[in-house]
Amino acid sequence: MRATRVLVLNSGSSSVKYQLLDMADGSRPATGLIERIGERTSRLRHTPAGRPSREREEPVADHETALKAVAEELDRDGLGLDSPELAAIGHRVVHGGRRFTEPTVIDDAVLAEIERLVPVAPLHNPANLAGIRTAVALAPHLPQVAVFDTAFHTTMPEYAARYAIDTAVADAHRVRRYGFHGTSHAYVSRKAAELLGRKPSETNVIVLHLGNGASASAVARGRCVDTSMGLTPLEGLVMGTRSGDVDPAVVFHLTRVAGMSVDEIDVLLNKRSGLLGLCGDNDMREVLRRMEHGPDAEAARLAFDVYVHRLRKYIGAYHAVLGRVDVVAFTAGVGENAAPVREAAVTGLEGLGLAVDPERNAARGDGPRLISPPTARVAVAVIPTDEELEIATQTYALVTGRTTDET
Ligand code: ADP
Repeated sequence: MRATRVLVLNSGSSSVKYQLLDMADGSRPATGLIERIGERTSRLRHTPAGRPSREREEPVADHETALKAVAEELDRDGLGLDSPELAAIGHRVVHGGRRFTEPTVIDDAVLAEIERLVPVAPLHNPANLAGIRTAVALAPHLPQVAVFDTAFHTTMPEYAARYAIDTAVADAHRVRRYGFHGTSHAYVSRKAAELLGRKPSETNVIVLHLGNGASASAVARGRCVDTSMGLTPLEGLVMGTRSGDVDPAVVFHLTRVAGMSVDEIDVLLNKRSGLLGLCGDNDMREVLRRMEHGPDAEAARLAFDVYVHRLRKYIGAYHAVLGRVDVVAFTAGVGENAAPVREAAVTGLEGLGLAVDPERNAARGDGPRLISPPTARVAVAVIPTDEELEIATQTYALVTGRTTDET
């Protein structure tokens, strides 16, 4: 039997998400999620294709226990880690620094390098590592691949990756712009080119990944040349709970004037800012609803306006970076679903050739679709992202030497 399946694992700090993908036919034999790892009760939801989900609530102390539970659930459906159809395990790893420019087969040296990057990704890399170590122990016979969120951005020119600070300090502490969500930016920029019937290597794309976290990227002929997140996923666009760009002096000011500690300001900017900080809601659905009906519509409107103003500035900036833009692609929870955000983001940018067609923008749909008028100079598109598929595709190509088309 040919091994055509890839198990994709996304080990976060308190959750593990997983999908089993079959690269031969594009099916997903199982998907699932364990939440609240380390809390008193954790919840596992496992969904085998075409059958009802199974849920379990029990304490799951750590990633080791979590992955054992995932392996057990897969086993119950005959999809376990020993299954001859399983070709590899692909792991999402948030920070790959400068060294990991491509998906990489995991060995001890790779684990050591991911560990070395913990100081620049203290929230993410330890959880990713815990997931990888357990998966390697559970399935030592399988090739395991790390796919890095930062990899797609390693093509940024040095002048886009550098902060204008003392080079010696920056180099000593690896302070530079890395960018995140790279797997999504890679996938969406490629799909956007395909939607236009063009080769990615001949297409310039601005990708707007708007989920709970949000980032923009400028992709020139298939290569990332700039992105809005930096040393950490805090820089750039306004997000659900993160501020995005602020004057760094805000930190000094709050330290001196408000007596806040660095840790308190870290929490403020990462967890109590963005839409949540501006209006009390981090979910764009709620913000849009309150703008229409709420007693405090004004705060919701201001949050929306700040969010959209930042977005518009980045679209303009990336136009300048790229020189010529073929398509602006919206993706992730807000980008795929919130028509008012898409419309507002391009309003006023007619001079750059940007517009949305109100009917196309309002129409619901599952797949990649154009929302600009047929005559528009620059295409505007909605491209649903699929990070699991991209991780599986990259993993499969690396371990088999085959692309999905050849399977
Ligand atoms: P993550 O960054 O966690 O992967 P998603 O890409 O799933 O997140 O995006 C989640 C966010 O998408 C939600 O917090 C919500 O703000 C937004 N969202 C989802 N559906 C809609 C919708 N129908 N309208 C507006 N916003 C939506």
